[in-house]
Parts: sequence; C-alpha cells; structure tokens
Amino acid sequence: MGCHHHSSNHNGLHNAIQYSCNVYFYQAFRQYIYHNETGNTYKDSEKGLMRWREAIGRFGFGRRLGLDLPNEKGGFVPDTAYFNKVYGKGSWKFSNWYSMAIGEGELGVVPLQMANLAAIIANRGWYITPHLIKGIGKNGKIDPKYTTPNYVGVDSSKFAVVIDAMEDVVRAGTAGLARIPDIIVCGKTGTSQNKKGKDHSAFIAFAPKHNPKIAIACYVENAGFGGVVAAPIASLIMEKYLRPDSTLSKQRLALEKYMREQSFWPARTMDKEELKKEGEKKDEKSKNSKDGKAVAPDADSLKKEKTDSIRRKPVVSEPLVRQSRVEKGK
Ligand SMILES: [Zn+2]
Repeated sequence: MGCHHHSSNHNGLHNAIQYSCNVYFYQAFRQYIYHNETGNTYKDSEKGLMRWREAIGRFGFGRRLGLDLPNEKGGFVPDTAYFNKVYGKGSWKFSNWYSMAIGEGELGVVPLQMANLAAIIANRGWYITPHLIKGIGKNGKIDPKYTTPNYVGVDSSKFAVVIDAMEDVVRAGTAGLARIPDIIVCGKTGTSQNKKGKDHSAFIAFAPKHNPKIAIACYVENAGFGGVVAAPIASLIMEKYLRPDSTLSKQRLALEKYMREQSFWPARTMDKEELKKEGEKKDEKSKNSKDGKAVAPDADSLKKEKTDSIRRKPVVSEPLVRQSRVEKGK
C-alpha cells in the first residue's frame, strides 16, 4: 500500500487520522488481526476476522441499527463463512482482504452507520439508536430503546486521541473547508474509489468538540476528494443547525452558493439529436437569464432539475480550492 504525500511523519494514530494515512491503518489492522493467536496465519486470520467483526458490530456495523423507519439497510461485514465460500475453506488469509483496513474491499457501510460512528466518537463510547420520532402522545413517551445508551465496549479515555486528531483534520489536515467560525469541528474525510468515474466524496463530523450537539455523515457520489465537496456541505449544514438564528458570514454564503451550483452527475456522451437539443436549450437559457449568470431556482425550474442536471458538465474542483486559499489569505 502506497503512502499519500503528507508532510508530517505517519507514526502514531493522531497523524494517521489527520493526514489519512493508508499505511498506518493497514499496519494497525494487521496487528489487530494477527494479535496473540496461534502463529498460523490462516487460522489467525479466521480468528482475527471474527474478533474484529464482533467488535465493530458493537459500533453498529454489519447490522441494522434499528431506525424507526422501514427498509433500513445493514451494510455488510464479511465473516469466515463468506470467505470460505469465495476462496474455499483454509485457503484465505489477511492478505486477501487487507483493503478493509481503510474501509474498502468487501466492507459495506451505510451513511447512517457512519453518522452514528461520528456520534459514538463525540460521546466517547456510546450512542442512542437513531430515530426520527421524539415523542408520541401526551406524555411524549417513546420506545425505551430510543432513549437507552448503547455502549460500544471501548473505554471513554481511548477516544481522546481520535477526537484531537479529528479536530486537526479540520484545523490543519485534509478538511480545512469544514471549518466553522468560532466553533471547533471534528471530522474525517473519505475518498471512495469508483470504477465507473470520479471518486465518491465522503466526510463524517461532529461539533462542537466540547459538549457536541450534532453528528453528521455526508456522501456525494462522483464528486472527488472528501475534503473538497462533502466536507464543506456537512460544515454548512452543521453551522445552520448550531446557529439557526444567525445568518452565514459573507464567505460562508459564497461557499454555500458555490456548493449549491455544483452538479456531480457523471458526464455521458450525447447522440447527435441530444447535442442539437442541448444547443437550442442553451440559446433559450441565455435569453432568459440575467447577464448569463445563474439565478435562484424557482419551483418550475426545480421540476426540470432532474433532467437538466444529467447534461450539465461534471464539476471541476479547482475553483473551490482557489477559494479556500483566498479565505486563508484574508
Ligand atoms: Zn502515510
């Protein structure tokens, strides 16, 4: 596994989180899987896998969390039976699935589980089962399963290093665009490889660092690096949640406008007829819009949005990066 080019050394969990170091997580996962077992790498892989599966199951991975809505998905965490089926019993080991160390490969997670993970870290080791209903009837009572903390079996003291690192991810790491003025945001970026096109952009976060009020997961398909797209979107949502009565600063409003105007539909080739239609549409649009600039969408244009966005060019991330440099300079 190759190392991203990051400035600081990658010895230690703090830096590994701050700079998203694949190599660190590969080594840590390997040690965890092979820890204290038989010395036979095949047998140790089986034992380690099941130990890991059970541990992250307590964090809500590989199963439904129990949301009060139908059709919740549970994601997927493979077990020995799965790999026996794929490779044959006794003929697979850690090296067959090490990419799960960085959340790739066989591992399947749903965004709700990742938001829940952010909540677990924010709470330093426990979560309340996610739910939408706050209360039913005069007493406002709900099923006790939505008011009882679930502990993940990791001592609360162990979360400090993760939380400090997630603060630095936003302060000086891969997610500078997630910063909210006067609020300490803790986050982690993710970039998920996409065989069909541009990477998927991912970001989880919670805020404020002390006495946290909101945890969030943001996934944007075909949008590139997590720090460039998902992070600013999540950050704007968190700011609006934490300060519902105040308006965004000028810079933050500009960022919001920029994010709203993006489309991440993958480019697809148009046939001749479509190209012709597209040309006619452009002519019409330039007549209607004021000096060719984007105008706020009304109800009618929102209806058209779905079909329109398919034809829009995929976003280029550079302008946003430039924008963040400008912000820094100021
Ligand atoms: Zn590294």
